[in-house]
Amino acid sequence: MPNKPDLSPETVAAQAGGAVDPATGAIIPPIHLASTYERDADLTYPKGFIYGRPDNATIRQAEDVITSLEAGDRTLLLPSGMAAATTLFLALETPAHVIAPRVMYWSLRNWLAETAPRFGIETTFVDATDLDAIRAAIQPGRTRLIWLETPANPLWHISDIAAVAQIVHGAGALLAVDSTCASPALTRPLALGADVVMHSATKYLNGHSDVLAGSLTFSRTRRAPAIAERAAAYRASMGSILGPLEAALLLRGMRTLFVRVARQSESALEIARAMTGNAAVAEILYPGLEDHPAHDIARRQMTGGFGGMLSIRVAGGEATAVRTAAALTLWKRATSLGGVESLVEHRASIEGPASPCPPDLLRFSVGLENPADLVADLQHALAQARNDR
Ligand code: PLP
Repeated sequence: MPNKPDLSPETVAAQAGGAVDPATGAIIPPIHLASTYERDADLTYPKGFIYGRPDNATIRQAEDVITSLEAGDRTLLLPSGMAAATTLFLALETPAHVIAPRVMYWSLRNWLAETAPRFGIETTFVDATDLDAIRAAIQPGRTRLIWLETPANPLWHISDIAAVAQIVHGAGALLAVDSTCASPALTRPLALGADVVMHSATKYLNGHSDVLAGSLTFSRTRRAPAIAERAAAYRASMGSILGPLEAALLLRGMRTLFVRVARQSESALEIARAMTGNAAVAEILYPGLEDHPAHDIARRQMTGGFGGMLSIRVAGGEATAVRTAAALTLWKRATSLGGVESLVEHRASIEGPASPCPPDLLRFSVGLENPADLVADLQHALAQARNDR
């Protein structure tokens, strides 16, 4: 029996929806690997499953957990965050004008700028922390979707989801939010008025750096079902459904989502505070700090913490930043985020010349290590990089 719908998200996550295998009583559900299903003599499919490309029971179970965590209507799981995001854009009616933030996950920004026009999608990039800029970018009758990412990579801009939802809905468009870096443990965009929430489930949802996955969760609003149907049809025809093994790993990862994110948020705040006043640090970018320009919005919109991601601009410029990353031993130099191990990344050299990321910036994904060890490693690396000048 799956969990009742009124349970709190922590309970749903911990029990992966609560389903016990009816055949064996197994607490951990079996992984359904079958690509095809038996058809009855009367040509019906009595269990509802036909073939693995449109649907699969293990994937459906993971989708139902995410739907519940996001308080949505339905979820689609795809093989990566990029697959999820691009499927949503491709499901828009075209020609489509969309609005997206200047500061957002770079690969999706590049896709919108370079590839999406071939599919009849034209993007205006704006400062998505500025409501007037969003209002001004709307093209009546043409703007179909506004995309937000909050907190936004890698400067950790915060957009006010509820305020943007009002503007967007007044214009008859959809609001989609990339909530990867908040995760459902901290923010529920659909409850704030968004129509679709997207996750790179590769990050916090899975949490262990061993799965690539992406999700789209659609709200129960009048506007969302049509685009949900089109996205599901695209996924079925293009064969871009998540694999069942990945879905099972994701189900396992999500069981600990709330404790992981709570601890990562506490540690990130501790590290951000410990860096305050360090002469080797030019600026700390973290929405949990009171001097962050949108701290009040973050406090309202993010419950229980400000997330495990922060960035530091290193005094002395790019060369000192690169030397700092090189001198770290506990923090691993790698891309990605949201895992149990702490990572550091020099973003500008990954994102390329179109990036708004300053070259002296290091991005930190805080894991589950003791924060005192992480602070000590960072302080030592900052001091060493300065001495090596
Ligand atoms: N959105 C954000 C905020 C991300 O950080 C990423 C990946 O880093 C993506 C989307 C894309 O996800 P994936 O790598 O799973 O395709």
